[in-house]
Amino acid sequence: MVLNLKLEKITLPGIEFKRPFIVSGPCSAETETQVLETARRLVKYNVSVFRAGIWKPRTRPDSFEGLGSVALPWLKKVREETGLYTITEVANAWHVKEAIDNGIDILWIGARTTANPFAVQELANAIKGLNIPVFIKNPINPDIELWIGAIERINKAGIKRIVAVHRGFSSYGVSHFRNIPQWEIPIELKRRIPDIPLLTDPSHICGSRELLYGVSQKAMDLNFDGLFIESHIDPENALSDKDQQITPEELGELLNRLVLRKTKITNHRLIDKLTELRKQIDYFDDEMMMIFEKRMKVSEVIGENKKKSNITILQPQRWNDILEKRMKMGTRMGLSQEFVAKIFRAIHQESINRQNKVMN
Ligand code: PEP
Ligand code: MN
Repeated sequence: MVLNLKLEKITLPGIEFKRPFIVSGPCSAETETQVLETARRLVKYNVSVFRAGIWKPRTRPDSFEGLGSVALPWLKKVREETGLYTITEVANAWHVKEAIDNGIDILWIGARTTANPFAVQELANAIKGLNIPVFIKNPINPDIELWIGAIERINKAGIKRIVAVHRGFSSYGVSHFRNIPQWEIPIELKRRIPDIPLLTDPSHICGSRELLYGVSQKAMDLNFDGLFIESHIDPENALSDKDQQITPEELGELLNRLVLRKTKITNHRLIDKLTELRKQIDYFDDEMMMIFEKRMKVSEVIGENKKKSNITILQPQRWNDILEKRMKMGTRMGLSQEFVAKIFRAIHQESINRQNKVMN
């Protein structure tokens, strides 16, 4: 189902919201010089909005938690001196008041806050009646309904200029990424709310600067609208998130290297070719659906037999054999382990649900 929210195009006097829309600046505001110097160097590139954290939601105590309100006037100076719009994170009604009183142009809601409906509602109440754009990061957990819920709460408070920011999802254990991107979630968000502009925050997805380019390019190839990316004049000595920050000049280079592909297909020969290939895809999808249907019917018959003989639905050895066999087969066929495992887990779960219905 596609949701109908009352959204408006992001219009800020003097800037156009066009791809790639770039928000950049340090993770945290640390000193007046650091803030102003970063902004002066960023303004040379295609940056529209300057970010800096004033209140930092840190996982563990005794980390740098931001300077608080004393740093807000520095952002106002950034706006006055460089013309860059400013954005900062707010997590409660008092942050909103402080930010507004100090002339901040845009507010962002962080991942930890989006995950908490009480906090989002407090923000919605505080923002009500203010004509200010709000950027909303995805919640830390991969729950699209929470993300949509936050967007709806802010929208119901009368805010029409809303931007979604994809910053990845936290997980337990080692991963290449600090927060796994799970691209299917922002893609689904865009399907459900087609009018919402969508940015990717490669900094918090990657956690290390080496990975930033790949994730940024991928966001562009997925037709996202822009990037929300951290930049610091001295990343090595940053007080928060030092491994993922890059200098303004490195950001300039990254933006320069980005390949921006066309979003619309206009070439007629290509349209014909794709139509033909898409027919083939549709044919295979039809076949797959019919095979799934047949497979599930067999599962149900197995369920009936298990019921008669009073046997549990899950037979771990059999399930393990299926998975191992198909993973091996997948490798021979050039299908990734991740793909095969996901498909078979989903099929197995559906079979269990069917047998559960048959049995109970
Ligand atoms: C940030 O942008 O610095 C930040 C704290 O982000 P997130 O809410 O995505 O963790
Ligand atoms: Mn950060």
